[in-house]
Amino acid sequence: RISGRDGANQIDFYSMPCEVAARFLILYGSQRGQAQSIAEEICQQAAEHGFTADINCLSNQHKYNLDSEIRPVVFVISTTGDGDPPDTAQKFVRKIKNKSLPHNHFSHLHYALLALGDTNYANFCNGGKTIDSRLQQLGAKHFYATGHADDGTGLEVVVDPWIEGLWDALKKTFSSMATSDQQDTDLSDCTQDDFHKNASGQEKYKSDLEVDLHLLKLSETDSQKGKAITSDSIDVETLSTVLVASLKQSVPLLSESALNVPALPASYLEVRLEQVSTEGETVPSDKDGYHEVSISKAVQLTQDDAVKTAISLELDISNLAYQPGDAFDILCPNRASEVEELLLRLDLQTQKNCAVQVNLLKNSTAKIPLHIPQNGSLQFILTWCLEIRSAPKKAFVRALADFTQNSSEKRRLLELCSKEGSADYNSFVRDANVCLLDLLRAFPSCLPPLSLLFEHLPKLQPRAYSAASSSLQHPGKVHFVFNVVEFPARPEHPARTGLCTGWLADHVSSILRPLGTVLASERLGTSAPPKVHVRPRPSGTFHLPADPSVPVVMVGPGTGVAPFIGFLQQREKEREANQEATFGETWLFFGCRHKDKDFLFREELERFAHNGTLSHLIVCFSRDEPDAAGTVNRPTYVQHNLSLHAKNVASILLKDKGSLYVCGDAKNMAKDVNDTLLEIIGNELQIDKLDAMKTVAGLREEKRYLQDIWS
Ligand code: NAP
Repeated sequence: RISGRDGANQIDFYSMPCEVAARFLILYGSQRGQAQSIAEEICQQAAEHGFTADINCLSNQHKYNLDSEIRPVVFVISTTGDGDPPDTAQKFVRKIKNKSLPHNHFSHLHYALLALGDTNYANFCNGGKTIDSRLQQLGAKHFYATGHADDGTGLEVVVDPWIEGLWDALKKTFSSMATSDQQDTDLSDCTQDDFHKNASGQEKYKSDLEVDLHLLKLSETDSQKGKAITSDSIDVETLSTVLVASLKQSVPLLSESALNVPALPASYLEVRLEQVSTEGETVPSDKDGYHEVSISKAVQLTQDDAVKTAISLELDISNLAYQPGDAFDILCPNRASEVEELLLRLDLQTQKNCAVQVNLLKNSTAKIPLHIPQNGSLQFILTWCLEIRSAPKKAFVRALADFTQNSSEKRRLLELCSKEGSADYNSFVRDANVCLLDLLRAFPSCLPPLSLLFEHLPKLQPRAYSAASSSLQHPGKVHFVFNVVEFPARPEHPARTGLCTGWLADHVSSILRPLGTVLASERLGTSAPPKVHVRPRPSGTFHLPADPSVPVVMVGPGTGVAPFIGFLQQREKEREANQEATFGETWLFFGCRHKDKDFLFREELERFAHNGTLSHLIVCFSRDEPDAAGTVNRPTYVQHNLSLHAKNVASILLKDKGSLYVCGDAKNMAKDVNDTLLEIIGNELQIDKLDAMKTVAGLREEKRYLQDIWS
């Protein structure tokens, strides 16, 4: 990404048959497209560095054969669920985990692995780690140190330097393979350090291929020469007002040399707009397993003055099976108003109905992104295929700078994507949820071609919602619950709602009713219900224990209660059907802000508690005033109640072999609950924190501590 296209990158490191020698294989295991798009980016950059890359999804096992692979292999692996490899890598993992494989099965294999994860979740990068350690056990050798990228702080922080270091590691590998007649050389020693040095930016790796990243560093000499720019030197008049506030916050202000961010590889797509009919194309086809279903009910679960608005939906899914604990992917379009504004801003408003034809530019070895359909209308592609709300990555910002006329604006874009501008990029773009349209508003002289958008905007991803129902209680239906996400206005963008939750709220507005009132759709009679595209997303583990006598503890504040409503509906029906059976204790720890405003599913939960489906319903309110009794340290959060019931919780987990389920916010709640659990177990067993952590890890291993958490 950071490499230029000048002479420094011309490949000259071997005079052997280059075509073959410089070929490597990229294999990715992707759950939601991120690993795939990074793998594609590596593939695209490979050509710029004189390599030829073949790329495959790990699930296409007939297209590659590692048993006899002599090319270096680059793996890009994401992590999903409770630290599992992505679905597309499951078969591959099963294959390499086969116990009958000899310990030297992959001794011929040289590989590098980039693992993706999120430190907000337990088992960080475990998908990649699982594959990495098994390949090592089977004798495969690293030719480059494994990268562990954290979505919690920004994947690019690790991904960018990792890719930068990859090219030199590959060069060494090919050289070594050629000169040592493919001796069994472990190249990891000489390259591990290089990546870490690159990543930490402490020391430069010497290479004639490497672009000198340290050019980007603000050198002492530069600052001594007083080259650093000041905000006054920027022509703020030409910038839109929303940018001004952010511009002034720009720290550190960078030297000219720091702004010398090398250009990206050339564009590889050619986009043509044809005036042919694309009529009737309004929603994606069913080919990805989506089903168009009706929304039969929509209920607002919270009072109008609650902090957040929670809505519950009922969908008619006649022949789609699911279990409580499973989720469903929902497809949502980009907002029509944002698509219109984007078209207008790109000067393409009059061509929105044209069919889009995408071709690779001559000599490009990259691939046309699979999520861009040939002959789709421009409006359709911007509406259904591209995540136009995503925060533009640094590479995109760098590319946008090339299409920005005004020098002050261009400078600011270069600053944002420079190495020194990282903190600024994080606060102005990433943390501020800035999207392409916000940048285009802020930088009026930037006019990128369509090809740039198609190369850089990721695939529009479905959003997953946990089932909040059981089909035993609601045959042919599934329920969801969600909070309408609100992003308040910031200097960088106006107030707006979350893409999917905002769209769903608008979409069901005609049938939305307050809790406890008559169904609007019943009153409307024959009017057509709103529809939505859904796809089941079964959970591997987040289900009730098969044995109903096993006790369960459920922790789910806010909409995190969703799957437990499904669990309890299921239990209620099972108890009705089988009164002789033994059912274990069921504890639910729920929390919300106000008893009278956002106590989701209150009636239903109280019914469960009343009829014995729930043995213990423990609720806390984080923002209610203490009652007349005025308990000072009243429990406000679910973990406080867990502590109050520590003996019971410990006994269920440690003595009765019960299960603990946690659902909800990953960033704070799940971590705090985990800390409380460590305390509970430490106190109960009289062990120190480290041993408590081992015990908790054991619970996870046994799938008795399960999380369904989201950030
Ligand atoms: P919320 O309304 O933000 O919070 C619910 C309660 O939790 C509030 O009383 C809040 O208190 C409290 N809380 C805040 N920080 C806490 C902490 N560190 N520990 C314990 N409690 C804390 O909940 P929400 O917005 O519904 O969030 C639920 C999360 O679950 C979201 O991240 C969502 O993505 C995820 N999720 C949703 C689904 C679904 O199907 N919709 C499924 C699974 C997970 P204060 O605000 O007063 O501090």
